[in-house]
This record gives sequence, structure tokens and C-alpha cells, in this order.
Amino acid sequence: MEHRAFGFTGVEIPVVGQGTWQMETDDEAACVDALQRGIDAGMTHIDTAEMYGSGAVESLVGKAIAQRRDQVFLASKVLPGNASYAGTIEACERSLRRLRTDRLDLYLLHWPGSHPLEETLHAFKDLRAQGKIRHFGVSNFDQAELSKAIAIAGPNEIACNQVLYHLLERAIERRVLPLCERHGIAVVAYSPFGSGRFPDPSSTAGKVLASIAAARGVTPRQIALRYLLRRQPVFVIPKAASAAHALDNAAAGDLRLTGEDLARLDTAFPLGRDRGVLPTL
Ligand code: NAP
Repeated sequence: MEHRAFGFTGVEIPVVGQGTWQMETDDEAACVDALQRGIDAGMTHIDTAEMYGSGAVESLVGKAIAQRRDQVFLASKVLPGNASYAGTIEACERSLRRLRTDRLDLYLLHWPGSHPLEETLHAFKDLRAQGKIRHFGVSNFDQAELSKAIAIAGPNEIACNQVLYHLLERAIERRVLPLCERHGIAVVAYSPFGSGRFPDPSSTAGKVLASIAAARGVTPRQIALRYLLRRQPVFVIPKAASAAHALDNAAAGDLRLTGEDLARLDTAFPLGRDRGVLPTL
């Protein structure tokens, strides 16, 4: 499993991590097994949120990591509606209890909301000073929102921006990814398989993906993850509800694509028209 520095933090984490959204609707034992087998395969970055299953997914993750906490880079998110100063501190403490741990490695604001960003960032800094979180960041922030967050928090404070990024949705490459590159901010690609919108193998682009995968003896999903990882600040967090899917995804961590593979994918899955807004799920 390739590891990279998580932006300016310098913390080395695996390029492929594990998402957990909607796991409350899957078989719990299978999800716990998938997360644990995934950790054993090197996918130690686990992404969750207080929103997922209204806390049920954090509890599930707590079970999965109970004997493995020190191996894991654990990320969770506060809901914008809770992101006042006091609300953020309380939300973090609830998340820690559900996750059965005393600290998060990364705590994110799930998307921009109406509470002043100054309050949320102040709470993040106080949580960090208390050792309850190691790093903090944001999610679903466009370039203007991210610039504002950087201006409020100061340089080398916003560790990451978690954003929608997959083969059929490359909008972040226009402005958000370059801004993150300039500020040493890690980019965590959510829904890297399009959250159910994975390229149809019978489509023209899907056939290109399938032919590259077949030539390398790997799966199209591994190729897709590796394509997203071609730029240094990017990490991916696919969600898998079975150990078979988790292990398939982990194998992308050791794959390398050639310049020719990348060029073919670039043409098959073009950047598309600039819609001027950051797409979200
Ligand atoms: P995703 O990872 O793009 O896709 C998940 C889907 O792909 C599931 O149906 C899963 O099936 C399937 N899958 C996974 N590995 C597979 C494999 N090797 N072969 C075949 N199918 C496979 O979707 P996502 O859950 O939307 O995104 C990933 C994570 O990003 C989330 O879980 C969450 O942690 C995070 N996220 C964050 C935000 C945000 O606003 N910050 C928004 C959305 C997502 P099974 O479940 O059956 O394995």
C-alpha cells in the first residue's frame, strides 16, 4: 500500500482509505469484517461522520476498530447545524463516545453552513489543544469558501478538503485541487466510484476502462482509483460493505498506471464543461 504525506501535516497515510456512508443499511457483521480486513490490507484511513445513520455508523466503526485503534487514522465530521463553538465541542465528544476512542485523527466540517466559520475553527483549535483531535479540515468547500477558511484559520491549519471526485466528475481539477496544491492541503476524494454511478462497461468510455484493466490483469475499479490518485495531494475513500470489495479496493494501493494509460483515461473521461460551481452529492 502506497503511503503519502497528508498535506502539510506530514502524517504518512495510505492513498486508499475506507468510506462508511450508508453502512447502517448494510449487514453490520459484514461491514465490520470489511473494515477490519481492509485495515489489515493497509486501508487504515477510516472516514465516518456523525450524520451517517444518525450516529449508528460511528458505533459500527467503533466496534470495527476496538482492538486496532492505534493502527487507524480516524476521521469524522460535524454537521453544519451543530457547528457553533459549543455545538462543535459537544458533537465531537458524542462522536468520541460512539467511536469508543479518546481522539480523532481528523475532524471535518461536513459542508459549509450558517454558523460563523470563525466559531467552528475556534472549536477545532480548542479540541486540538485538548488532544481530542489531531488535525482538522473541511468538506464540500469550493475555492472561495476554502480561501476564506484559510484566511480565518491561518496557514498550515486546514489539513484537508474532502470533495466529490470520480471519473465522471472531475470539476475539482479546475480550481479546488490547484488551490489545495498551493497550500499543502490534502484532497480526500469522496464517492470515488460515483456512489453507484460507476462507468457502464458497455459505454465507449467504460470499454476503455475495461481494456486498460484487462491488459493489466486488474479490475476497472482499481484503475479508476489509481487514476484519481495521479496527483500528489489526493487520497481516495471508497466504501465497501464486503471484505471482497474492500480487498479489491486495497489492491489499487500498489498499482501504477503508465503515461499512456493516463492519457487514454483523460480522453475517455473528459473534464467537461465548467459549470462554475463545486458539485456535491
Ligand atoms: P463509492 O465509494 O463511490 O461507491 C460505493 C459503492 O461501490 C457501493 O455500492 C459499493 O458496494 C460499491 N463497491 C465498492 N467497492 C467495490 C468493488 N471493489 N467492486 C464492486 N463494487 C464496489 O460511494 P460513497 O459511499 O458515496 O463514497 C465513499 C465515501 O466517501 C463514503 O462512504 C463516505 O465516507 C464519503 N462521502 C463523503 C461525503 C461528504 O459530503 N463529505 C459525501 C459522500 C461520501 P458495497 O457497499 O456492496 O460493497
